[in-house]
Amino acid sequence: MKVLKFGGTSVGTVQSITEVTEIIQKKHSKSKGTAVVFSAMSGVTNKLLEAGQIAAAGNTGYTTLLNTLEDRHFEVIKALVPVKSQSAILARVKGELNDLEDFLKGITYIRELSPRTCDFLLSFGERLSTQMIAYILKERGLSAQYIDARTLIRTNSRYGFAEVNSTVSHENIIAQIADPDTIYCITGFIAADEDGITTTLGRGGSDYTASLVGAALNADVIEIWTDVNGMMTADPRKVKNAFSIPEISYTEAMELSHFGAKVIYPPSLIPAFQRNIPIRILNTFESSHPGTVITKTVPQKAYSITGISSIDDIALINLQGNGMIGVAGVSAKLFGLLAENRISVILITQASSEHSICFAVE
Ligand code: ASP
Ligand code: MG
Repeated sequence: MKVLKFGGTSVGTVQSITEVTEIIQKKHSKSKGTAVVFSAMSGVTNKLLEAGQIAAAGNTGYTTLLNTLEDRHFEVIKALVPVKSQSAILARVKGELNDLEDFLKGITYIRELSPRTCDFLLSFGERLSTQMIAYILKERGLSAQYIDARTLIRTNSRYGFAEVNSTVSHENIIAQIADPDTIYCITGFIAADEDGITTTLGRGGSDYTASLVGAALNADVIEIWTDVNGMMTADPRKVKNAFSIPEISYTEAMELSHFGAKVIYPPSLIPAFQRNIPIRILNTFESSHPGTVITKTVPQKAYSITGISSIDDIALINLQGNGMIGVAGVSAKLFGLLAENRISVILITQASSEHSICFAVE
């Protein structure tokens, strides 16, 4: 079994989706047992959020955004599905968009966009892209099946950033994804709580979906298809001679991702890590490039430094004073206060003189 995941830019245009269908077809004919996780088309999640905010302000100006969504999906369908079989999928997409419009109308009445409402709103993005691509694959003669991940992934009710119940999710995944001849097309990012209410796994959460599915199926590999040649030694926009890292350990990848190398969503490494499943980062737009493979242990590298990454908009705060020297409990007071106010600390240092404590926050 293998799990592939295609991000927003990979499913963002007619050309990229053509590329994606070819990659899937090639992989599946090489070895059976394929589950594919899709993001929403690039920019769609943000557009949905914007539409929700307009509606929550009591306006109906979101209709232009809805038209854009319709145009983008219809353009793909019209380009990639033969004319005689377009009507079924056009009607399906239109139906979803009508539901979405009704839902937004509802938001204009109540003028609130709670995290719970927002999760349902955002779920349209992945449902639209995945249904559309499953249909395109079927039209190419492949036995593709659409799966709404709300039937697979069970979470708690922390809307916007739900925590996964792995036991229940694993059972669901194993029960539904069993036929090696079928190409399972799964919506990334979305899940459901115990009452069946829609939740999401946090922005960028489709990687996490792929990792969960891969872990449950004990997949041979999880391939994350994106728009860069794997993880780089540095941000190529800032460092000209940055290059792709062929192999990296889970821990190194986690550190690099935390510090701004946005190729993979950090929590998504954990389920794969626990089962020791390699994750390969590949480029949809340069599919022959070997990318980066993330595994438990990697052989000695040619360079002692794996990569350098950075985060912007961080404040470094220095607390200092003679009164702190040798006094117990100063750090407890400081960090206790930060915790009480839900301020996450990124880095902490204290000089051994105890004269100052330095910490970094967003
Ligand atoms: N569509 C979601 C987002 O933009 C999830 C994802 O792409 O991974 O955050
Ligand atoms: Mg994404």
